[in-house]
Amino acid sequence: MKLFDVYPLYDVVPTHAKDVYVYDDKGIKYLDLYGGHAVISIGHGHKLYKDRLTKQLNEIGFYSNAVKNPLQQQLADNIGKHSHCNDYQLFLCSSGAEANENALKLASFVTGKKRIIAFNNSFHGRTSAAVAATDNLAINAPLNLQQDVTFLPFNDEKLLEVEIKKGDVCAVIFEAIQGVGGLDEPSEEFIYSMDRLCKTYNICLIADEVQSGFSRSGTFFAYQKCSIKPNIITMAKGMGNGFPVGGILAHSSIESKYGMLGTTFGGNHLACSASLAVLDVIKKEGLQEHAKKMGNYFIDFAQKISSVKKVKGRGLMLGLEFDFPVGPLRKELIYNQHIFTGGSSNKNLLRILPPLTIQKKHFDIFFQKLEEALKAINV
Ligand code: PLP
Repeated sequence: MKLFDVYPLYDVVPTHAKDVYVYDDKGIKYLDLYGGHAVISIGHGHKLYKDRLTKQLNEIGFYSNAVKNPLQQQLADNIGKHSHCNDYQLFLCSSGAEANENALKLASFVTGKKRIIAFNNSFHGRTSAAVAATDNLAINAPLNLQQDVTFLPFNDEKLLEVEIKKGDVCAVIFEAIQGVGGLDEPSEEFIYSMDRLCKTYNICLIADEVQSGFSRSGTFFAYQKCSIKPNIITMAKGMGNGFPVGGILAHSSIESKYGMLGTTFGGNHLACSASLAVLDVIKKEGLQEHAKKMGNYFIDFAQKISSVKKVKGRGLMLGLEFDFPVGPLRKELIYNQHIFTGGSSNKNLLRILPPLTIQKKHFDIFFQKLEEALKAINV
């Protein structure tokens, strides 16, 4: 049987991985500055993570949400403690799109309305409402276009208020640091405006922290550079270090009802154990503070490179913007310098999303190899 061919693949076959390195079937060692798309948070094959998952698997791997699973409450308590979002309620699912789909659905239940406001260059996933709120027509099928979504630019408070005042909006969904869109951020002033307008007009503000959450940005959630309380926060990627787990935090003012949301796999025993292990390692190894420090080190270094036109992002959600498309550079980096990096919808942006355990010495290797790669492609 053929695979349904939707991914343009690099010709690399990873067979094992340790911390920030991935090894392929030919024995080549790659420095992982991509983290499997911001998923690897505590490093590949962390001992505590493997031990916890193995222990859990030997006890019970899965049972459905028809019975009690105390690990879910433990995870809710730990997320509350780490994120300082104690006044929220946790609903668990299995991916970023599913988290956003549930967040948008919940916003619509709560407000009784259905129009969504999203932002230019947004990416929120590929399910029905999440993909409709994604600013990319090419990945929306006619079916998805029946959703009622308005895209706005960041930082235009007046325009946002005009749209909100029309009275039919259920949610404003934003990324505090855009991932796929290319690392643009709304200004702090605009984040406060969104918060204020949503509160004034009883609309749900949804912070999509699927990529930026779980300490990657140097704060637990990237929106936390501002002291706001979004009505709903969505999470996934780094939450399970590769185990598929996602979730939403719904503010305590949102009332739950049986059947309102649901899933078969969400919050299963293995998923909870994976996420509990991730939180323990983030805490024990001080990875949130480390992400901030490593990000600053990277930014300082990158700003001195003349071919880099702009350094974007914060913590370990970073990007280097050039004045040429980075496709050939990424190929040179992976095939000849053996470094994984990421791309984005901004074709000139190289994205850097390493495990949060990355050290200065790894960035030093990267910058040296980047220089060689730039020479090799004649920049
Ligand atoms: N939201 C953001 C900000 C993302 O970056 C992504 C994936 O890249 C998603 C949602 C969708 O997550 P998933 O691919 O797990 O469905």
